[in-house]
Amino acid sequence: MTLRGPRLFDQLNRRPLSDVAARLGLNVQRRGSAVSAGPCPLCGAVTRHTKTKDKRGALGWRAESQGWKCFQCEAHGDGAALVAARVCGTTNPPRGKWAEVERHCRELGLLESVPGVVFAPTAPAPPPVVKVKTYNRTPAPELRALWEAALPLTAVPPWDADVRSWGGSWCGDVRVFLTFRGLDPLTLAGLDVARILPPPERYAFPSWWLGKWPKARPFYRLAALTFDATGEPVCIQARDVADPRANPAAPPSRDLKTNNPEGFQIAASLFADALGREVLRGSYTGPGVVIVEGLTDFLTAAQLVTEFRPGARPAVLGVVSGSAAALEDVRLPEGVPVNVLTDNDTPGDDYARGVVDALWRSGMRRIRPPPIGGKKADLSDWLKHDRRAALAALSHGMEVVPYVAPVSR
Ligand SMILES: [Zn+2]
Repeated sequence: MTLRGPRLFDQLNRRPLSDVAARLGLNVQRRGSAVSAGPCPLCGAVTRHTKTKDKRGALGWRAESQGWKCFQCEAHGDGAALVAARVCGTTNPPRGKWAEVERHCRELGLLESVPGVVFAPTAPAPPPVVKVKTYNRTPAPELRALWEAALPLTAVPPWDADVRSWGGSWCGDVRVFLTFRGLDPLTLAGLDVARILPPPERYAFPSWWLGKWPKARPFYRLAALTFDATGEPVCIQARDVADPRANPAAPPSRDLKTNNPEGFQIAASLFADALGREVLRGSYTGPGVVIVEGLTDFLTAAQLVTEFRPGARPAVLGVVSGSAAALEDVRLPEGVPVNVLTDNDTPGDDYARGVVDALWRSGMRRIRPPPIGGKKADLSDWLKHDRRAALAALSHGMEVVPYVAPVSR
């Protein structure tokens, strides 16, 4: 079937323009959100502004843009026009030529469909861009003290009288929340990727924690640290565990599922498991990196990768909603596959594109959960629906070896 006109454009424009350009063999470079590439498939110019010795590629666009422009010959267009320029020598070929353009796109892998879209398997990684950005972060001593006062997910504190019952106690509610999502408090406690914040009457919380919603404080209990691009803990996020789905006896849910410190930035910080922190510190040598969105999918991925043999586990990073740009400063190891897993809806698609644009490197795949029961699904839904499939998808393209547990579970 030929994807003429709008459908072909639609397919191509769902990918970053940098991917289309790289697959055409252009040399793509990024500086912040500015992307350049060369040579121009029409005029052949390698760089722009010959007279001013501007070394950037002849073509330029913004990372989030679907349109490019040649600074030498003024040609412009979208991803499909770029391929057409290469195949037909014009950005606007006659109708009969589009089948040829489409065939070329297919050969380049530009029309592969989900799951496991390969964004850029052969493109050379651009040179690292050194940037210095500063963020207003939570005071480190207060953050450390709060994290140290937090309880492990398996805690049975003497003051938490009903902890062994299902729900209705401070720590028990967190375990209900996790178990309802197919998560295992014991495994996650062993990884120390999340903890239970203490009740407000047992800890003098700093004013930046829930200053606006003191009454909601008890509900945000399940917490994880976030790390900056160098692996330093910089912030904390907590999840409302009194979710009516998990705990029908709970009071109505608050407006926001998660809470962040007030007056400080969580932007450009990431959840990371132990291997994820190695990635951030630049010392990771394992088979691949998995990037997911949000706290619960981060915990889900962190738990799933424990099913691989130690030493052959992918590292897990979780991006805090809306901060995919955090990844621009992360030094991912060369040549290591990176799988990006987001929700299977339009915001998830946009988010995946944001991650790909921010990272822009070779060997990236976007993994999309299948619709489960005809609905929007995330990794946590996938885990409950088909654990093996979710696991296989996470490690897609990585040489990971499943861990055979000595005792069957
Ligand atoms: Zn040109």
